[in-house]
Amino acid sequence: PLPEGPLAVRFNDVSFGYTPDKEVIQHLSFALEAGRTLGLLGRTGSGKTTLTRLLARAYDVQQGAIRLGGVDVRQATLDELRSQIGVVTQEVQLFHASLRDNLTFFDPGISDERLEQVIENLNLGQWYASLPAGLDTRLAGDGMALSSGEAQLLAFARVFLRDPALVILDEASSRLDPVTEQLLEGAIARLLAGRTGIVIAHHLKTVQHVDDILILEDGKICEYGERAKL
Ligand code: ATP
Repeated sequence: PLPEGPLAVRFNDVSFGYTPDKEVIQHLSFALEAGRTLGLLGRTGSGKTTLTRLLARAYDVQQGAIRLGGVDVRQATLDELRSQIGVVTQEVQLFHASLRDNLTFFDPGISDERLEQVIENLNLGQWYASLPAGLDTRLAGDGMALSSGEAQLLAFARVFLRDPALVILDEASSRLDPVTEQLLEGAIARLLAGRTGIVIAHHLKTVQHVDDILILEDGKICEYGERAKL
């Protein structure tokens, strides 16, 4: 089983292709220490998303090994990986249901107090207070429409509730209003505190907060190291 606490990530000579004729990750090796945050950069198609999918074992690698907390991901169960890796992508799926159910995925074991604590923790108190029916506010469908920034914040809250050891974040590439952007920045910092993080960054500006940087080019490392030293 995976160890407790933040998980170190190690890629050892990993190669992978969706089809046999084209490797999109090529002999990739790097190590991210537990508790650190890696900024992942590279052009469209360079393999950033694929790298994160391999970690969560959406696909098995064809060569090399990926270790999480020292454990080969092939030795971990998918349930373990799912509970220990929290992923926030840019497309957030909201259900036509209450805010409560959207956060808990209909798990009645999560109390309202816990939800409100997480909302407060993410600095969303003011937004929450403005909702017409608190946790009962209906979203999506004919319910309340959320901005893309607000939807991202809900996705953070979902991850927060699950308390995973590794957080993978695909940063919003679109322009957000300054208030939402600041809320998101604060929420990201809180989400990453005490966890290992991988942030797919679209702007150089946002990698100021990460510890290490890896720039991918055609599935290979173009640059890699401590941010301060690059
Ligand atoms: P972006 O910044 O646009 O998200 P990326 O760096 O995340 O790009 P990937 O999405 O990992 O890049 O894609 C790497 C390569 O793999 C691309 O050539 C892409 O077309 C291909 N690819 C991605 N997903 C699949 C898939 N499900 N099936 C086949 N090929 C895929």
